[in-house]
Amino acid sequence: MQIQDALAAVDALPQTCLKQRSRLYASKPLGPQDQPDFVNAVCRIETELSPWGLLEALQGIEQTQGRIKKRHWGERCIDLDILLYDDLQISDAHLQVPHKEIALRDFVLLPLAEIAPGLLIPGKGRVDVLISQLTETYVIPLQTDQTNQPGVG
Ligand code: AMP
Repeated sequence: MQIQDALAAVDALPQTCLKQRSRLYASKPLGPQDQPDFVNAVCRIETELSPWGLLEALQGIEQTQGRIKKRHWGERCIDLDILLYDDLQISDAHLQVPHKEIALRDFVLLPLAEIAPGLLIPGKGRVDVLISQLTETYVIPLQTDQTNQPGVG
């Protein structure tokens, strides 16, 4: 599966180690609805790469896995985003951290809360509070076990 391949590729990046991952979650696609559900997950890594170096590395993985964007918010093979980087707040032409949509997306917040309950998202608030403020959620865990160790699942 694309996500498993991507997690393995992230773990294989230089100076980078996958420490924790959420279950996989199915979510309703943004944009056109006549496409399959998306599958989402979040992971926690330790890395010596800078935020910009990490972004470049993730874009390399996307390229390698043949990310094909057929239409805006449409089907794609893989989309890797940096949600958070320590407690940094970055906003430049290439990178916004925390990710600009982090507080609005159920398919980000729920897996994030799974691996980091009570997490404080810089400039946004606590993950559990942000979840309580969502107007609707449509995410379904695809795995029933709580195992979130790297390489499992
Ligand atoms: P998207 O196709 O929606 O994943 O957007 C990709 C673009 O978003 C890239 O050109 C990145 O430079 C930019 N970007 C800004 N902030 C981030 C972030 N936190 N994670 C990943 N891409 C980001």
